[in-house]
Amino acid sequence: MVAHPGEMTARDRFYSDRLEKTFFIIEATSFEQHTLWQNHHYYPTLSLDYRGFREESVSWDSLSGIIITIGHLGEKLVAISLSWVMVNGVPVLFWCPSSKVVCYDLIEKWFSENCVPERWGNGTRRSYTDANNFSHCRIAIKEYKDGEHSNPYKYPFDFPIHSPPKEIDLKDLEAFDLAKRQKDLDVCCRSCGRSDIRLYRSYGGFRRTEEDRCNEHLEEVCSGEDFRGWYVPLIVDDAGNAWGYTSVPQNAIDAFYGLEDFTQEKPYWCGPGERSDGISGWSNRSLA
Ligand SMILES: [Zn+2]
Repeated sequence: MVAHPGEMTARDRFYSDRLEKTFFIIEATSFEQHTLWQNHHYYPTLSLDYRGFREESVSWDSLSGIIITIGHLGEKLVAISLSWVMVNGVPVLFWCPSSKVVCYDLIEKWFSENCVPERWGNGTRRSYTDANNFSHCRIAIKEYKDGEHSNPYKYPFDFPIHSPPKEIDLKDLEAFDLAKRQKDLDVCCRSCGRSDIRLYRSYGGFRRTEEDRCNEHLEEVCSGEDFRGWYVPLIVDDAGNAWGYTSVPQNAIDAFYGLEDFTQEKPYWCGPGERSDGISGWSNRSLA
């Protein structure tokens, strides 16, 4: 998917398989996706079809997702977020841009090379829409399940619903080499390119991978002590996704603290007990 065929890892093959077996693609922000879940699954009475009839609830099972870099515009990377939901047992891919620079030509090209679901409407309509037209996806699923769909899939889908191959699922307590993981997954300070040190990311919104920084270069993306508060340690799982700030497994936290910062001259993230107030967070010389 991202790598050349000869260099595909188990993780690449996992996501290639998912892309190949995707039934429908929806362009939707996370809020739109949440609203669709609410209207079509959780409170289905809110959902009316185009004739004004109340729609039946669909089953909605969210699967894991991934943020990937699909190309570059000059030096700026273009990244998109992918997440899958089994809607009535059929794999639907939701995507949205996830980088500061967005290029729809690049994104279109990437989809045409990596994910082209069979058409619906007896092969006349592209299986791709936006959140506003989610009803197209519902009709396609209904068509498919009614056996009218012309695509060659055999139901039920042999869709990889579990998480991608992971080492830390099985080895949650084992130490691992975070620097190596960062290097292997191209997770680095987007200013100096180093992956062998502690990295920081913004939180409270989409992760902008191009804003990942070491502590030496953090001021390029945030200024002043207050803004630094919106940055937290970047600790990636083995798929390259950032662990949620409050859900990082202990061995991953240990791996983070095992790395050096780029510099001790700039504020850095202190572990529990490192600051005089005992709370983990940015170093603060007035507390030291
Ligand atoms: Zn740096």
